[in-house]
Amino acid sequence: MKKYDLFVIGSGMAGMNIANRCASKGLKVGITDELPYGGTCALRGCDPKKIMLAATELRHFATNLEDRNISDIPEISWKAAMKSKQEFVEIMPAKLEKGYEKNGVETFHSSARFIKENQLKVGDEIIEAAKIVIATGAKARHLDFPGGDLTLTSTDFLNFENLPKSLIFIGGGYIAFEFAHMAARYGSKVTIIHRGERPLENFDPFIVEQITKATEELDIELILNTDVSKIEKSEAGYKVTANPDGNEKNWEAEVVINSAGRLPAIFDLDLDKGNVKFTQKGIVANEYLQSTSNPNVYVAGDAAATDGKPLTPVAVMEGHIVASNILKENSKKPDYSAIPTVVFTSPAMASVGLSEEQANQMGLDFIVKKNSIPNWFTAKRLNEKTYAFKTLIEKDSGKILGAHLTGPHAEEVINLFAMAIKGGLTSKDIKTMILTYPSASSDIVYMV
Ligand SMILES: Cc1cc2nc3c(=O)[nH]c(=O)nc-3n(C[C@H](O)[C@H](O)[C@H](O)COP(=O)(O)OP(=O)(O)OC[C@H]3O[C@@H](n4cnc5c(N)ncnc54)[C@H](O)[C@@H]3O)c2cc1C
Repeated sequence: MKKYDLFVIGSGMAGMNIANRCASKGLKVGITDELPYGGTCALRGCDPKKIMLAATELRHFATNLEDRNISDIPEISWKAAMKSKQEFVEIMPAKLEKGYEKNGVETFHSSARFIKENQLKVGDEIIEAAKIVIATGAKARHLDFPGGDLTLTSTDFLNFENLPKSLIFIGGGYIAFEFAHMAARYGSKVTIIHRGERPLENFDPFIVEQITKATEELDIELILNTDVSKIEKSEAGYKVTANPDGNEKNWEAEVVINSAGRLPAIFDLDLDKGNVKFTQKGIVANEYLQSTSNPNVYVAGDAAATDGKPLTPVAVMEGHIVASNILKENSKKPDYSAIPTVVFTSPAMASVGLSEEQANQMGLDFIVKKNSIPNWFTAKRLNEKTYAFKTLIEKDSGKILGAHLTGPHAEEVINLFAMAIKGGLTSKDIKTMILTYPSASSDIVYMV
């Protein structure tokens, strides 16, 4: 049996930070991952996705400016983009493992599961650790209708050697929208089938309306209020069936992607043997990110049932907090206020702070400023038809409660609102700031 002060399960952004930091402070640390080291963000999510999106952003700009400043829209190549993505991803696991080696972290390459409160089975090894961290991330939710397992996942999508000619996404969340915009611009015929009344349910309805219009103008077919009931193989690839209003409808595509949400990757960990309480949302933890049933277990990132959204910056923050709490006996608590989030469509859609619905539920007294503003200089210069904002401002204090945007550079401008909310700035503070001109960020003065 091997013994450690700390053993970490999962080498994503959460686990990596905890293992390296605790080892650098002198703890004997081991870490394991059943997949190559690096986790979702670096290998199968944020980073590879953004590399693939670079060329589509260019195509989007060029298409908007066609016949104005640009005569030929540049051709973009899935294969070439995939090659740059591969070059980035391929070197990552070895680079990260070198970092662990430098910090004295012992690395394993098998899946882990609990056998006792302080013991794990990692491949063929029995590991005993004073503290165990669960940082196993999330996995695509299983589709439990006939043919659900014929679907592929976002990971498969980011590894397509050739882009399928047609794609159906089941579920209209942020991954579906980002990948649909990407695939459509690389030349695929895309359909999104969503069971709800509106897609992107976690985002502001007014902003979603704008991005929905932009999505349909890209010839992406958006089918709402439609619960898929089965998937079968067909001549074109796959046939997707649903029965909205009792009338059977079918769609066909070369590939079907499961984008119906992600669940914490904790269900193969034999958590009962480790006395670790969990729900469908993840490991149940106290304010120090410590298991409520086994005090020697901590959790961080997508595997945790906390108020933190399943996002990389949240996983990083929770990782720092868990490392501190292991090293300094429960001294830090996470702060989930003002965490911005982006849907990397073109243009992007971004959000921070409270939604109008949340502010109402909290009984706050606030004003809403909202407008569709393609006539503002930022959009006009780029001939961008989609530019809109909604901000919530507390009446008495003038403080910014929430901001929701779509349009040029929304993914960057939202960070200014995050700073404003975190720093307790008022609309007057923002209005009296001198910002660079002409720039998208200077528009915030007129949004509050
Ligand atoms: C397609 C996609 C795009 C995304 N885009 C963004 C974005 O633009 N911005 C953003 O902020 N977030 C984005 N996310 C979310 C972000 O990637 C996650 O929130 C983040 O990676 C979570 O980090 P983590 O450390 O909790 O888990 P992960 O990075 O998922 O790491 C968990 C690791 O644990 C390993 N593991 C699981 N079970 C076991 C086991 N039993 N034994 C051993 N190892 C195990 C896994 O192999 C994995 O490597 C995206 C996610 C996806 C899927």
